[in-house]
Amino acid sequence: MKIGILSRNRKLYSTRRLLEAATERGHDVHVIDTLKCIMDINSSTPGIHYKGERLADFDAVIPRIGASITDYGTAVIRQFEMMGVYCLTESIPLGRSRDKLRALQLLSRKGIGMPTTGFAHDVENGRELIKRLGGAPVVLKLLRGTQGRGVVLAETIKAAESVIDAFTELGADFLVQEFIKEAGGSDIRAFVIGRRVVAAMERTAAEGEFRSNLHRGGVAKPIKLTPEERATAVKAAQTMGLHVAGVDMLRSSRGPLIMEVNSSPGLRGIEESSGKDIASKVIAYIEDNARPAHGSRKTR
Ligand code: ADP
Ligand code: GLU
Repeated sequence: MKIGILSRNRKLYSTRRLLEAATERGHDVHVIDTLKCIMDINSSTPGIHYKGERLADFDAVIPRIGASITDYGTAVIRQFEMMGVYCLTESIPLGRSRDKLRALQLLSRKGIGMPTTGFAHDVENGRELIKRLGGAPVVLKLLRGTQGRGVVLAETIKAAESVIDAFTELGADFLVQEFIKEAGGSDIRAFVIGRRVVAAMERTAAEGEFRSNLHRGGVAKPIKLTPEERATAVKAAQTMGLHVAGVDMLRSSRGPLIMEVNSSPGLRGIEESSGKDIASKVIAYIEDNARPAHGSRKTR
C-alpha cells in the first residue's frame, strides 16, 4: 500500500516507529509535513499539493497531528477524506478528542464513567460549580490543554477561585472536575486499536505532583486491566469514532473513570513499558481496514 504519515518531524519516536513498521511490512511510506500541504479546493477534483507535486494514489494516511496545529491538521485530514483516502484518524473524531468538554459530553451520553465535571464561562458560575462539586479539592482544566499543562489541583476553595480568576482573565475556557483522590497520583493509559486494548500501562506521578503525564516526570509500568477497564476503554474510543486511541482512565472506588481519549497517542511510553511492537499492530490494522485506492493492497 502507499501510506502517508502526516507528521511535522520524521525524527519523533512515534513517526519513526510507524515509518519503520510500515516499511518492514512492505509498504511504500511517505512522511508528509502537515503544515506544508496546500489544499486545492474546487468543485471537480479536490487535491493536495506538497512540495510542488500533487499527492496522488495514497491508500491510507496516518495523521499524527500535534495539539498546536489541530485546526490546520483537521483541514488537511478532511481534504484527504474528500479525496477518498482512508484516514486512520478522521477529522471529526480528531476535533472531538481535542476539546475536552465536547469529548466528555459525548462519553456521558453513552453512560461511560468519568469524574463529575462542570463547565462555566465566568467567575461567578465557576464558584457555583465548585459548590456543586461539594467544595475543594477540585481539579481545574483548560479545555485545550495537553501533556498536563493547564491542569491544576486546587486544595482549597480560595485557591480554586484564584485559578478561575486567572483563567477568566486570560479568556480561556476551563472545566472544573471532582478530584479523584483514591487514584493516588496514578492513571491508566489503555492503547486501543479497533475493538481491542492491545497494551496498557500505569503511569505514576513524580513526587509532589498529582499529574501522571510522562512529560511531567511520571513513570510507566505495564499493568493488567480488568475486563471492565478494557470494555470502558474500547467503548470510549468507539464513542469518539477513533480507530486508534490512547484512553486515559483513573481507578476510582466506583470503577474506571475516563479523563480523556487521545487521538495521536504517543508510542514510546507504551512500547517501552509493554515491550510490544505497537507500531506494527497499527499498520496491520490499516492493512485490514483501508480500502485500496489503486489495487496495490497486499492480499492477506
Ligand atoms: P492532559 O490532557 O493535559 O494530560 P489530563 O486531563 O489527562 O490532562 O490530566 C493530567 C493528569 O492529571 C492525569 O494524567 C492525572 O494523573 C491527573 N488528573 C487529571 N484529572 C484528575 C482528577 N479529576 N482527579 C485526579 N487526578 C487527575
Ligand atoms: N504526544 C502524545 C499524545 O498526543 C503524548 C502524550 C502521551 O501519550 O502521554 O498523546
